[in-house]
Amino acid sequence: MSDVRERIAENMAHVRERIAAAAVRAGRHPDEVTLVAVSKYVGVDEAQALLAAGCRDLGESRPQELWRKAEALGSSAIRWHLIGHLQRNKVARTLPLVSLLHSGDSLRLLEAVHAESAAQGRVTPALLEINVSGDAAKHGFRPDEVDPLGETLAALNGVQIRGLMAMAGLEGSPDDARREFAQLRELRDRLQTAWGGRFKLAELSMGMSGDFEIAIEEGATLVRVGSLLFEGAGR
Ligand SMILES: *Cc1c(COP(=O)(O)O)cnc(C)c1O
Repeated sequence: MSDVRERIAENMAHVRERIAAAAVRAGRHPDEVTLVAVSKYVGVDEAQALLAAGCRDLGESRPQELWRKAEALGSSAIRWHLIGHLQRNKVARTLPLVSLLHSGDSLRLLEAVHAESAAQGRVTPALLEINVSGDAAKHGFRPDEVDPLGETLAALNGVQIRGLMAMAGLEGSPDDARREFAQLRELRDRLQTAWGGRFKLAELSMGMSGDFEIAIEEGATLVRVGSLLFEGAGR
């Protein structure tokens, strides 16, 4: 395990260097970009290694796996990010654990999150997941359906919408990814204006192992990196 730990720490350092370089290239400060280390491929020990390597932001795509790791790691220092679909029957148990729900992918879900948050006496920070690539298999709002939702979302006071999240299309080229990330940023800018002061849409969650540098150049504030962190660590 110590070899695995070392390898994860090295990978983390390398990813951080690449994040910083991409930020500087884009005329941004590296601190504007938060690395969310996606632990969905690994067990509790490797997730612990991510913490030991100095990463407090951990992401999981399945609620049950987030519950399991949150319980096993038990650290209040961790900020958990749910980056995959949240079924409505799992909302109640998930909300107390997450710092940011990236996958606010439907109005029905956000209404359920609002109601449960109100019942639990909390406000849940969330992003709107946008299906920028138009993949039929992907969750999320269509880019053209969110504009009219400002008032509806503002009324859900158990949810605090902080920005947008997207994944580039699976089959696409780097140029396609760049176009989709730019589209997400432009949508955010447009919504910020259209929805006015009711929201502060500061966050853009975009970019994974294969395209996080492009995402940073296009304005990402949160990158969700998994596989790169575990290369050579037995996965
Ligand atoms: C798995 C996953 C990631 C991380 O993907 P890698 O390519 O392994 O870095 C990022 N975002 C979401 C939504 C994921 O499901």
